[in-house]
Amino acid sequence: MQPGTILENTNLKGGYYRIRFFHPDIAAKAVGGQFVHVRLNRLEAHLLRRPFSIHDTSAADNSVTVVYKVVGEGTKAMSELQPGDFCDLLGPLGVGYTQIADDTIPVFVAGGYGSAAMYLTAKNAKQKGILMLGARTEADVILNDRYEALGYDSRIATNDGSMGKKRICNRTSGRCTC
Ligand SMILES: Cc1cc2nc3c(=O)[nH]c(=O)nc-3n(C[C@H](O)[C@H](O)[C@H](O)COP(=O)(O)OP(=O)(O)OC[C@H]3O[C@@H](n4cnc5c(N)ncnc54)[C@H](O)[C@@H]3O)c2cc1C
Repeated sequence: MQPGTILENTNLKGGYYRIRFFHPDIAAKAVGGQFVHVRLNRLEAHLLRRPFSIHDTSAADNSVTVVYKVVGEGTKAMSELQPGDFCDLLGPLGVGYTQIADDTIPVFVAGGYGSAAMYLTAKNAKQKGILMLGARTEADVILNDRYEALGYDSRIATNDGSMGKKRICNRTSGRCTC
């Protein structure tokens, strides 16, 4: 199979998708916090590469997974790709996060789909701690189940209180009227 071949492209929820590429080289080298530069080969209007954080890798099937949100033309076109289609991937790029020491219980703090980029580091941490996940609304809360499956305790807060705790207001003086 050609590197960059799409194994899966699934809608997670609303505008959020998970895409899994076959790419032995990137799968073997990537560490948490790095990213790939993706070119959508068959679409001339999208020749400029789009950067996406590496969400996960698997040695079992030599795959690299990205979680993305449809925000513009490139990600819309990406959401329409099918297994067997192909993208050109450059990577792994970036320095990556500091790996978690074995005797440390990690606390990951993320906003919305920022949790996608931290997942690989969370997975590789020996001890599983806490995921603190903030989002505008319930529709933007994703991947907490993936962290929970690893053994993390997830604490969720949304601006509108539609899931988890309602965000505390920003007032620094006087009485809160939220
Ligand atoms: C290091 C890095 C890692 C990233 N990781 C991820 C990730 O893991 N997942 C993820 O989903 N995203 C990630 N991103 C963001 C991702 O690269 C962008 O969302 C993606 O490139 C958007 O491409 P697009 O073609 O869909 O959007 P574009 O068409 O390029 O549009 C991007 C934004 O600009 C707005 N826009 C477009 N055209 C106009 C216009 N004419 N006037 C005004 N506004 C306009 C769009 O509404 C949209 O909000 C990452 C970015 C970086 C730099």
